[in-house]
Amino acid sequence: MKTIPEFFGCMVFNDEAMKKHLPTDVYINLKKTIENGDHLDSSVANEVANAMKEWAMSLGCTHYTHWFQPMTGITAEKHDSFITPADGGKVLMEFSGKELIKGEPDASSFPSGGIRATFEARGYTAWDPTSYAFVMGNTLYIPTVFCSYTGAVLDKKTPLLRSMERISEEALRLLRALGREDVSHVFATVGAEQEYFLIDKDMYTLRRDLMYTGRTLFGARPPKGQEMDDHYFGAIKPRVAAFMEELDKELWKLGVYAKTEHNEVAPCQHELAPIFTTCNLATDHNQLTMEIMKTVAQRHGFVCLLHEKPFEGVNGSGKHNNWALSTNTGENLFKPGKKPFENKQFLLFLCAVIKAVDEYQDLLRISVATAGNDHRLGAHEAPPAIMSVFLGEELEDILHAYATGTEYEAVKKAKIAMGATVLPEFKRDTTDRNRTSPIAFTGNKFEFRSLGSALNIACPNIMINTIVAEQLSLFSDILEKSDNKDEAINKIIADVYNNHHRIIFNGNNYAEEWLQEAEARGLMNLKTMPDAMEHYSDEKNVKLFDKHKIFNADEIRARCEIQLESYSKTINIEALTMLDMARKDIFPAVSKFVGDLSKSVLNKKNLCADLPFEAEMKLIKKLSALLEKFDILVDELQTAEDKVRSLKGDALTIARMYCSDVLTVMSKLRRVSDEMEQLTAADYWPYPSYGRLLFTM
Ligand code: ADP
Ligand code: MG
Repeated sequence: MKTIPEFFGCMVFNDEAMKKHLPTDVYINLKKTIENGDHLDSSVANEVANAMKEWAMSLGCTHYTHWFQPMTGITAEKHDSFITPADGGKVLMEFSGKELIKGEPDASSFPSGGIRATFEARGYTAWDPTSYAFVMGNTLYIPTVFCSYTGAVLDKKTPLLRSMERISEEALRLLRALGREDVSHVFATVGAEQEYFLIDKDMYTLRRDLMYTGRTLFGARPPKGQEMDDHYFGAIKPRVAAFMEELDKELWKLGVYAKTEHNEVAPCQHELAPIFTTCNLATDHNQLTMEIMKTVAQRHGFVCLLHEKPFEGVNGSGKHNNWALSTNTGENLFKPGKKPFENKQFLLFLCAVIKAVDEYQDLLRISVATAGNDHRLGAHEAPPAIMSVFLGEELEDILHAYATGTEYEAVKKAKIAMGATVLPEFKRDTTDRNRTSPIAFTGNKFEFRSLGSALNIACPNIMINTIVAEQLSLFSDILEKSDNKDEAINKIIADVYNNHHRIIFNGNNYAEEWLQEAEARGLMNLKTMPDAMEHYSDEKNVKLFDKHKIFNADEIRARCEIQLESYSKTINIEALTMLDMARKDIFPAVSKFVGDLSKSVLNKKNLCADLPFEAEMKLIKKLSALLEKFDILVDELQTAEDKVRSLKGDALTIARMYCSDVLTVMSKLRRVSDEMEQLTAADYWPYPSYGRLLFTM
């Protein structure tokens, strides 16, 4: 059997494979493109394509695909075989540089937000040489970007790559202004911790809500939830362990650095954390991780739920986006070092993030806004919709000292003694962790925690890269002009703290008081997805994206529209699924139960005149009253659905209506159904209960 280092990345056309299969000059040329972002010489494309094909065929491939990330949030692929006709009715296996570099999928069925009319079907995919090609099944996957015939961006990768270039350029500029000449490239690095649920496939197929919408739309809470805290980091059950083992192997073969697996807070909930890598690869790897989680789960009789809130009453799933900047020389620019107070380079980069978050709270909120994530943000289980930064006391004290021009006294690291001589002594960190902050500085990186589990992490990283690049650019503007650098730096730090300390919050973000305090501080609280989207095209945002050439005003409008439409469609499907379940299953089930109870009352009466039947009558009355209520709400939901569907408004107006009208009735309908579920005999209830879904694994 092969060891992990031996088979790790065996399905990836990585550096090792390139070195082995490419002529040296071609390899060097390609490597320059990957590492420095240099333009790729098109003459080498043919040689790369041929080498890739030979390598892929040696692994059993017959097809290739341009793999891209359209605005649907998932990945897209169209498979072409390598065959080309040859003399005598034969075929050759061919793959040209042209086919590697450019693809022409029909773009008309991908969301474009009105950028491209359906009759203008042409779209292009273009090879992204910075993300390695890989093999899955019989297909060679080539990571690509996707744009329209006119060059308008239709995907998530293009703006991500642009934002990575921008932050590299601006970080370099600042480093140069500080006299650093040794660095030639700066990478945004990301490690995305992924949460998910595993539930039994047989039970999943009995619930249309899970199948159509990924979440339960009905379901009474079981007597036990997550209150005992007995699942978090608990022993992993054998069936789940087998799943995790296979998942790790599949991911390792694809070069994904899957590192940590553990149980999460909710029953049936788990987490996978990879080792961080560049932002671009981390995005591709996270997309792959989600896809492979789903396929491996199937093989183990599970279904992997990536929805942000599959079950009410227990935690939903999120994704933590750990982000930092790293130089090509391997230096993490967010490492405070032994004396952070004196580390001005670090403080400048830190200040850039603080100012960026404060000035672009809306963009960060927008980047995580989906119908599913609205159920988590602000629900006392995930950071609220209000953006803030956790720095910890030590760093805040340092910034405060700069702002007030006072002396700073360094905190000494206390030792922790475990009280038994056999146990190691270790130094305590100078600050504790804060698990409730949406954007927490965690020692040498920022952890953005507001992401929902299903999100493509490209979106938040486009935002972070761009808003931080903007601040770095403004700092460089000042420093490049200044005669006294040291003084200028001190002033930048002081100004950032004085003008933006409202965004720093080290307390409990889940507490009710924080909502009030945040409001007093003037922070934005964009509670729902439509609330957030309203700000996408704000003047300052359009200016920002235009300055850094990430999106033009048209592309922003289109993206906003696509996201709003997807929000409305999601709620529409949920509402229709609810109506279907309510009418076809729940109503008949309760009615049948009430009918049978009534029959048994009649039977009792026939049997013997003085048998008591108050118990049955009580239940019959209760359930009948609830069923009446239920019926009225079903009609109400249908009316709300019809009304919003006939509405001729813009995408925002329609989304708002789904949010205010449809969702409200949906939740009322659910309350009544859940109450009926608790009163109805288990045999009659048409769906596996929460108890069975969550506790019988
Ligand atoms: P924590 O205990 O704070 O969650 P870990 O060290 O376990 O911290 O890291 C959590 C995630 O952060 C991992 O995916 C890890 O790879 C990632 N990470 C660590 N350092 C960096 C960095 N410099 N840039 C981006 N991500 C990082
Ligand atoms: Mg974390």
